Amino acid sequence: MNAPYDIELHNVSFQYDQNIVLKNISLQVKQGDFLAVLGPNGSGKSTLLKIILGLLKPTSGTVDLFGEKSRDFKKREWLGYVSQKSNAFNTGFPATVYEVVQSGLVKKTGLFKNFPKDSFQRVEKALNSVGMIDFMNQSIGELSGGQQQRVFIARALVAEPKCLILDEPTVGIDHQHVQSFYNMLAELNREQNLTLILVTHDVDTVSSKISHVACLNQTIHFHGFKNEFNQLSDEDRQAWYGHSVRKIHHAKSGGTQ
Ligand code: ADP
Repeated sequence: MNAPYDIELHNVSFQYDQNIVLKNISLQVKQGDFLAVLGPNGSGKSTLLKIILGLLKPTSGTVDLFGEKSRDFKKREWLGYVSQKSNAFNTGFPATVYEVVQSGLVKKTGLFKNFPKDSFQRVEKALNSVGMIDFMNQSIGELSGGQQQRVFIARALVAEPKCLILDEPTVGIDHQHVQSFYNMLAELNREQNLTLILVTHDVDTVSSKISHVACLNQTIHFHGFKNEFNQLSDEDRQAWYGHSVRKIHHAKSGGTQ
């Protein structure tokens, strides 16, 4: 039997009061996919991520996580999440990089329980994966936006997720560091077979790293391999985005199957 999808949405709709935000979303993400979710502001991208994470309940439709109904799914640590505004600590914030990353183990151990014996090794491994091991004892507030974002990814990785969900992670990162940030994500995807779901506006910068694209504007207008996305006509793009969206420039042919 084939392994189940990491994430499978079937006919998911969602509304805040009378405001319909998502309509009949069906989407599958399998292990090792690197999916970029594109869409204009207010198109429901963050809401979609929150539904996947179980932070919001669909008004109708179903969400399956790793082959189980979302409501029955217990292994929440399999889904890591880095929200849009996580990298905003001020200089004086009283926590070290180590403490911030270690707090990611709370999910695994439960609040107020002791951290596991091997937490130091886990934090070390997570910081190594994001190239931040040398900053372990530094205060989080002293780091740049990009460095803080890497630490927050380490915080998500320390719980050993199978899938990492990132909501516009490069907001607040200096332009010249965005490419190396995506290189780091691509390495996690390739070397640890980590499934990645990324909401982004940096389509060109990330294009050589991703395998799939989903175009969202209330509903999914396209979901497929990145090269299929490139074959959409200008009219198709206009239909979901509201104005013309360029093809991905640096796209390599194909994607991971
Ligand atoms: P995106 O991430 O694509 O910018 P969002 O998912 O944040 O879009 O928002 C989609 C729509 O839902 C917008 O119209 C937004 O105003 C509305 N919305 C988002 N969060 C809330 C909320 N907590 N309460 C009511 N409406 C919300």
